[in-house]
Amino acid sequence: MNQKQRILITGGAGFLGSQLCEMLVARGDDVICIDNFFTSQKVNVAHLLDKPNFELIRHDIIVPIWLEVDQIYNLACPASPCHYQFNPIKTIKTSVMGAINVLGLAKRCNARVLQASTSEVYGDPEVHPQTENYRGSVNPIGPRACYDEGKRAAETLFMEYHRMNKVDIRIVRIFNTYGPRMHPFDGRVVSNFIRQALAGEPLTIFGDGSQTRSFCYRDDLLNAIVQMMENESGFIGPVNIGNPNEFTIRELAELVIELTGSSSQIAETDLPIDDPVRRQPDISLAREKLQWQPTVELREGLQRTIDWFRIIDLEHYQPPTPNF
Ligand code: NAD
Ligand code: UDP
Repeated sequence: MNQKQRILITGGAGFLGSQLCEMLVARGDDVICIDNFFTSQKVNVAHLLDKPNFELIRHDIIVPIWLEVDQIYNLACPASPCHYQFNPIKTIKTSVMGAINVLGLAKRCNARVLQASTSEVYGDPEVHPQTENYRGSVNPIGPRACYDEGKRAAETLFMEYHRMNKVDIRIVRIFNTYGPRMHPFDGRVVSNFIRQALAGEPLTIFGDGSQTRSFCYRDDLLNAIVQMMENESGFIGPVNIGNPNEFTIRELAELVIELTGSSSQIAETDLPIDDPVRRQPDISLAREKLQWQPTVELREGLQRTIDWFRIIDLEHYQPPTPNF
């Protein structure tokens, strides 16, 4: 796709969205970023504000918006457990009403729309690694359900708009992603551990640290979702995007201590309810359909993330919730 596109990015001031805005602005597309700044701040996109092909709109995606665009990346949604559990009803509204609003917009404009779904649609999985045809094991009444079920309902809405209204959709299921511009107080494991290690504080392992995650570096993830958006083969997903290298949370803590050269200790605290035990993407489908695979190993990606955490001023970041 060589023609200049008008691209809407919802949640465009967030961790992933702001880097996506930067990539697409640099490529020469016309980018509209909408965000309500619940879990982000303007500083993430401040450097783009004077670009002629970038526009920032403060807007909440649960309210419809009238725009003319060719592509929509629907990223608006709090992503970290303490953010999405802060106001669970708002989280479901953001996923469900947000999906309805972007799908309606896509239908009217004949735009292509990509949904940032999540590995959380698999819940606490009994199938390992997780393939796209696994239907998941989500507790529908637990504290993670506002996010997991909201994202599952959003996938349903995307499929139904596609089947009924021929809306041109893409669905990507994103596995744990990390990198520069993560909110330092988002409570996610990578940001917590790096912040704690740099401050010489104990790294808080929830439970005994034997639970696993597979961490994907931000740039690998973004390359995949842009490829998915631009794929013309008729493949709409859902497709897993993540790094299949699996680590225990204790291994992650030890690696962060090593890379930061910190003298921090490790402290075990309570494991949150419904915390998934294992998570690893099977990315065979992404390899086959997109010829994509991640290129940045955890050690290298963590080093880049640590370098960024070293230069930021934490006083500029307000914790959006008291739960970090
Ligand atoms: P983030 O919290 O940094 O970004 C989300 C952005 O959406 C923020 O800027 C926030 O202010 C905005 N937002 C939230 N609710 C909104 C609303 N109602 N209206 C408008 N804007 C709203 O998180 P992220 O890590 O950049 O995640 C981006 C997307 O990717 C999310 O949809 C998330 O569910 C998905 N995802 C991320 C990960 C990951 O590991 N980072 C994993 C799976 C899925
Ligand atoms: N975790 C941890 N210490 C922290 C934050 C998180 O041990 O300070 C654990 C958490 O219990 C989970 C894993 O790290 O098992 C990943 O948590 P995160 O919130 O980053 O993402 P999740 O994959 O659970 O959505």
